Amino acid sequence: MNLHEYQAKALFKQYGIPTPAGEVAASAEDAVQAARALGGGQWVIKAQVHAGGRGKAGGVKLAHTPAEAGELAGRMLGMHIQTYQTGGRALPVNTVLVAEASDIAAELYLSVLIDRSRRRISFVGSAAGGVDIEQVAAATPEKIFTIAIDPTAGLQGFQCRRLGFALGLNEAQIKQLTRMMGGLYRLFVERDLALIEVNPLVIAAPGGDLLALDAKINVDDNALYRQADIAALRDESQEDPAELEAGRHGLNYITLDGDIACMVNGAGLAMATMDEIQRQGGRPANFLDVGGGANAARVAEAFKIILGAAQVKAILVNIFGGIVRCDLVAEGIVAAVREVHVKVPVIVRLEGTNVEAGYRLLEASSLAIITAPDLERGARLAVEAARGANTATA
Ligand code: GDP
Ligand code: MN
Repeated sequence: MNLHEYQAKALFKQYGIPTPAGEVAASAEDAVQAARALGGGQWVIKAQVHAGGRGKAGGVKLAHTPAEAGELAGRMLGMHIQTYQTGGRALPVNTVLVAEASDIAAELYLSVLIDRSRRRISFVGSAAGGVDIEQVAAATPEKIFTIAIDPTAGLQGFQCRRLGFALGLNEAQIKQLTRMMGGLYRLFVERDLALIEVNPLVIAAPGGDLLALDAKINVDDNALYRQADIAALRDESQEDPAELEAGRHGLNYITLDGDIACMVNGAGLAMATMDEIQRQGGRPANFLDVGGGANAARVAEAFKIILGAAQVKAILVNIFGGIVRCDLVAEGIVAAVREVHVKVPVIVRLEGTNVEAGYRLLEASSLAIITAPDLERGARLAVEAARGANTATA
């Protein structure tokens, strides 16, 4: 689950990580009030959406008077912002952050994440921070520094100093960085986070102090049950509607950008199915994991959700009947295809308990369901169907 910048900064405050003073506002009048209350001579108005790249998309603006803060906020609120991080969707701006503007001497990058290959929580830092960190990492990886933390020893002072030197900081700044990293590490571990990103971490002018100018937090969904106050920060308006709807039915669903919908049971089978589709030259539109208890009602719900994606040209069902029986799954598929009036080709591959009975049910249904004896053939049929090369029925 993602947090908004203003929510992330409130957590930063709890952990002693310095950020510019700011207040959240949901109307132009609130923004004027916030600017007045904060004082100072300049403010940044920042659209609160679950994505970075707002600066380039018109979601970060500088105001010189409280009245201008109100005007900018009024224009931003109600906007939909699409950035390279929003996955093709435009996210609604329901709140803005009004923050004291900072004078910036340099923009650095700092993040905390779980490095799966090392099996360690790691800090990633770079002196080349700001809005183009992805390009820095791709073009000049030598400008990115990583330190991995031993979970039994915890974050060590020498690790912070090493990163501070690599970022070109002076002695006073290295002390600040050490404190900041200590706070970030505690925040990451205590609140079960999956990612903290501070981009930019700025050196403020004229004093040279370090300041977290932006804040992005992703929380481990599996830990939300024990982080009730963080779970309460969820903003469903920022989430993919199809993924939300699937979640309400206890189905795992991920939107992708191809044209073949995938219905599978189990995450491993989902990965294998998508790999095989790609290998055969196709692209998955989504995948939906119906889980272990794939009964007729769940299969029907699942069909409705995967068909909701406008670009779907074929459906590949790939189910392993281990706990569930293939004949029950087949009944579910037949009922769903009838009920939902599926208009695109449906390719079904079943394996496991009662597989013959399952295939017999599908064939006896007289519906346009194409059966496939194995995954390779199933994926090929789906790819061909999506291309319109083969829309014949079995
Ligand atoms: P993002 O584009 O969504 O990552 O939003 P950021 O909060 O990172 O802001 C984008 C850019 O706007 C930063 O890299 C800064 O260059 C600039 N910016 C944001 N806040 C301030 C500020 O208080 N003062 C100045 N001078 N620039 C700012
Ligand atoms: Mn940023």
